[in-house]
Amino acid sequence: MTMVHSLTINQLIEKLRGGQLTSRQIMEACLNRIDSVDDKLNAFISYDVEDALAQADFADKARSEGQEGALLGVPVAIKDVIAVKNHPLNCASKILGNYESPYDATVIKKLREAGAIIFGRVNMDEFAMGSSTENSAFGPSRNPWDIDYTPGGSSGGSAVAVSADECIASLGSDTGGSIRQPAALCGCVGLKPTYGRVSRYGLVAFASSLDQIGSFTKDVKDAAIMLQVIAGADEKDSTSVPEPVPDYTVALSGELKGMRIGLPREYQVDGLDTEVKAATESAVAKLEELGAEVKEISLPHTEYAIATYYIIATAEASANLARFEGVRYGARIDGEDPEEMNCRTRGAGFGDEVKRRIILGTYVLSSGYYDAYYLRAQKVRTLIRQDFLQAFEHVDLIATPTTPTPAFKIGEKAKDPLEMYLSDIFTISCNLAGLCGVSLPCGFSEKGLPIGLQLLGRPFGESDLLRAANIYQEATDWHTKRPDLD
Ligand code: GLN
Repeated sequence: MTMVHSLTINQLIEKLRGGQLTSRQIMEACLNRIDSVDDKLNAFISYDVEDALAQADFADKARSEGQEGALLGVPVAIKDVIAVKNHPLNCASKILGNYESPYDATVIKKLREAGAIIFGRVNMDEFAMGSSTENSAFGPSRNPWDIDYTPGGSSGGSAVAVSADECIASLGSDTGGSIRQPAALCGCVGLKPTYGRVSRYGLVAFASSLDQIGSFTKDVKDAAIMLQVIAGADEKDSTSVPEPVPDYTVALSGELKGMRIGLPREYQVDGLDTEVKAATESAVAKLEELGAEVKEISLPHTEYAIATYYIIATAEASANLARFEGVRYGARIDGEDPEEMNCRTRGAGFGDEVKRRIILGTYVLSSGYYDAYYLRAQKVRTLIRQDFLQAFEHVDLIATPTTPTPAFKIGEKAKDPLEMYLSDIFTISCNLAGLCGVSLPCGFSEKGLPIGLQLLGRPFGESDLLRAANIYQEATDWHTKRPDLD
């Protein structure tokens, strides 16, 4: 029997409308699920039961008075980097102490307007820096398919909470793959919208020219519902783009016939796991069988993507994180003078990976090195973007594995940052080029770990992306599999 907490947004809304379920029942089902599995998984940093149930009752009352909303009564978990008024905001760091946000991020405001229950803070790598959720001051999250493995990162908690049915959907952020990679490793759908599609107001900045908020859901239809709610220009974020928001749920229905899908020649990298290769190749064969036209394309600057990203992202991070100095936000360790206070606070408050990035970023921006590193990286970024825009003259979508391997073990890469960075090879270029991308389940390894297919679309091409992903999903059942946690 399908349990309430395993249902999709789409299914729940139908039951809520039909009077077969109440929001309180949904919220209670999620809370019970958390009670039984989250000790093992550590997806949630915190949650407020009373507040969640009050929101659920409010939604039930609204519905009984005839109100409607795309997410009315649906619990959505929030990555600990997105501001929710009067709730803790830690970015999985010690440096924010017991800081609480005084305001709602724009995405939260939009979710509330659609009736969602804003529920819980989910775990992540500190300040979204990482690919495994091991860099969290609240301890690592664990992969629900095998708790010895990482769920990926940085939005690991968001992926775990959805895959383990602890919530119905969640929000994450993606700077270089932090939505798509954990979605792939946990077996759910992760959508990174185009840069500018969704407001970043209230998202704590890591690398402002790359960061984007997106969703984790149990299927593609739900990804369309979530995007519909959160998309759109916002006067509070000058990088959000006033491009009209199409009806994404309508865009889902359509066909694949005539859609051209490109396979980048350069993505046949050493180190691509054979099971991942086989699963993604058969997913592409399925798309072809369903009517897509598949052809090889070239993205010649692929080999520079990781280096370019880790220069630009760290440079921006070093500037963005300067604000955490013990005066304005969160924790403070006093010293003899402001400088000592600052050093002590940052020394104790930030974890190793965050410090590494601040040091790297400061280095690439410093006089004498700026031209050699930062400026060159910006130029290469333009070339990478051009590669994609040229490819999109010949194809409508690009298909790749989301990750080079299935989930890796907790501790396996934690001591080798370079090894960790290399695992971002397929997701990073999308952010550098400002594209949209989705990861969807397309198989399992022999060990039973999920494998993800990544589809990349043109800037503001989410409709094509969602249509192809939905047609694939309607013809397969990978997304319906759930980890056995009992
Ligand atoms: N893994 C990448 C990094 O560590 C991406 C992180 C992200 O998208 N937030 O920077």
